[in-house]
Parts: sequence; C-alpha cells; structure tokens
Amino acid sequence: MAVNLLDFDLAQLTAFFAEIGEKPFRAKQVLRWMHHFGESDFNRMSDLAKSLREKLVVMASVEPPRLIKEQLSDDGTRKWLLDVGAGNGVETVFIPEDERGTLCISSQVGCALECSFCSTARQGFNRNLSVAEIIGQLWWANKAMGRDPKGDRIISNVVMMGMGEPLANFDNVVTALNIMLDDHAYGLSRRRVTVSTSGLVPVMDRLRDACPVALAVSLHAPNDALRDVLVPINKKYPLAELMAACRRYIEKAPRDFVTFEYVMLDGVNDSLAHARELIALVRDVPCKFNLIPFNPFPMSGYNRSRPEAVRRFRDELAHAGLIATTRKTRGDDIDAACGQLAGQVQDKTRRTQIRIMESAA
Ligand code: SAH
Repeated sequence: MAVNLLDFDLAQLTAFFAEIGEKPFRAKQVLRWMHHFGESDFNRMSDLAKSLREKLVVMASVEPPRLIKEQLSDDGTRKWLLDVGAGNGVETVFIPEDERGTLCISSQVGCALECSFCSTARQGFNRNLSVAEIIGQLWWANKAMGRDPKGDRIISNVVMMGMGEPLANFDNVVTALNIMLDDHAYGLSRRRVTVSTSGLVPVMDRLRDACPVALAVSLHAPNDALRDVLVPINKKYPLAELMAACRRYIEKAPRDFVTFEYVMLDGVNDSLAHARELIALVRDVPCKFNLIPFNPFPMSGYNRSRPEAVRRFRDELAHAGLIATTRKTRGDDIDAACGQLAGQVQDKTRRTQIRIMESAA
C-alpha cells in the first residue's frame, strides 16, 4: 500500500525522502504543498522534478479522510463530518470569534475514559485516529475557511477538545502537533494550540518534554470523592498528583497558566462550598477557569446548572482572584458540542438538543 504522506511531520518526511534517495529539502517542499496550499495531487506540485513526481504517484499518496458532510450554523459555527472507515466518523468544529477562529479537533473514535457526564464515553472506545486523520481535520477546515483579506488563515487556533483523550493517543497527537506548529505547514504558535486532558499525569509530563503547547485540564470537581465519580481516571491519578503535574507543566508551557475546564452540573458540583473547596485546591497552581454549562443528552442523569448558580460560582472564584469565564452556547441548530460529537457515520437513532460551546478562554 502507498504511504500516506499526511501521516508524517517534517522529520519523518525527511527520513522518507532519504530512504527513496531524495534530498532532504524535498520534505519541506512537499510539506508546504500539502499543508500550506492544501494540495493532494503530486502532479500539481510544480517545483518537484518530473521524475520525482512520477515516483511519488506510484509509491505515496496524500490522503485526508473523506469529507461526508459540512454544516453551517446561523451564527457562523461550522461542523465537518469525516469518514474514518468502518462506519466510523469524526467531527470537527470551527468556532468563529472576533479576534480569532478556533478549530476543535478529535483525537480518537470514541473514548475509553468513561467520564459520567460525557456522551462520547457512552459510545465506548473504538480506536485511535492516525496522524492523517487528526491533521486531516485541520487540512479540510483550512481548505473550507481559507484566508482573510490580509492573507492570514481564518483558523488561528486549534484546541484538541473533540472526541477522545488526546494523551491516550500520544504519538499520533504529538506528530500532528508538530505539523500544526511547523512553519512549512500551518505555522501556529504553541500558545494557539491547546491540548485538553482529563488528567493522564505521566503523559502530561511526556507532553511537556516532547511538545509543550498550551494545556487545558478537565477538572470538574474540587475533591477526590466527587472527581472519582465524574472523571474515573482520578482514581488512578488523584487531585494532589494532578495539581503537581500542572505545576511541572507550567514550567515549560507557552502560557503561564493552565486552563481548568469545569462542567457545571446542577446540584452536583456547582455550590458555593464547591467553589471554596476549588479555590483551596488550586492555591498553588497558576490557572484560569472555563466554566462549561452541561450539555444534556438522553439518559445522562445530569442537568445543566442554573445560570444564577453559574454566576455565583464564577463570582466566588473571582473574589478569590481567579479568572473564570463561562463558555457561551452557540450553534444550537447544527448539533455539536463539548463531549457530544458524533461517532457514527450512519444515522444516529437519538436526536438530542446539542449545542456548540464557544471557548472564552
Ligand atoms: N478527553 C479530553 C478532551 C475532551 S475535551 C478531556 O477530557 O479534556 C471536551 C471537554 O468537554 C472536556 O472538558 C469534557 O469534560 C467536556 N464535556 C464532556 N461532556 C460534556 C457535556 N455533556 N457538557 C459539557 N461539557 C462536556
């Protein structure tokens, strides 16, 4: 089978060209064609020697996942459904804001982590996405969104906050991150790329060493007893270890804070007492909070916190000097949301009121 060059970052592409007896600079050229210009046809890569183009046509391909569907919300939010084979799909969401455009990317088909309030968890874990399937999301979205009149890409930020746990697919995610950051590809700065994790402590350290991009941590509870229920990986890596890992991460991070995501669940984690416990918990961790009103789905067993509860919670954090923003709800009309992206290409039986959350981080 032909190798898919979308699977390679610059180092791997350089190794590939060395193997087939070509000069290293070919890697940069091809990376630019694929990611800078979105080109998938070797014959149109006009500055490659004809003999090389012919060689590549035979032995390689540039193969993003097949695009199945694109949806546009009234508020400008967009969603793409990509086919990753065997009836599986992944969704990618673009969220426009005044000063930036953010793409929310998936890293796995399904998820193994079983967070109790997340509908992706209900689908179970299917498999890791390949590098081509991860970077293919950015590839398609960039093709669709293009550039602004100044020539800058509309997609200015990436968050790994779609389906799956990115740190459970470490190697592929890091290679995809390398491509996002590479000047010959997307040229995004580390500050504009965020990995969100439920808290795989040892892998947070590996990310810090391999590719320290901005970090978001799905906290959701201020104590171990509650977090064990909401985010069961907490039983393996409890809060004290998680807070220590966050502090270690910040030493090398492109931003001097960690973003804590906190889903607001009515009557579960949204009281003033919880807020106070949270303030004590993060005392030694430079951080910002992103409060996410829960997105309901059938049989979830949870309800969204009341707006007054969210406000009170946020004000309590603010009084303690912590910056907390509430994610805005957008794109109700096209079914996409935090923890709720579809896994199936086939029609789903359930129709839920799903919303897109705008990150206000
Ligand atoms: N597995 C990673 C990446 C997913 S990010 C992580 O846990 O961080 C998706 C974010 O949406 C996470 O913070 C997740 O906890 C949150 N989320 C999941 N289900 C949700 C729901 N029903 N409503 C609101 N937020 C949800």
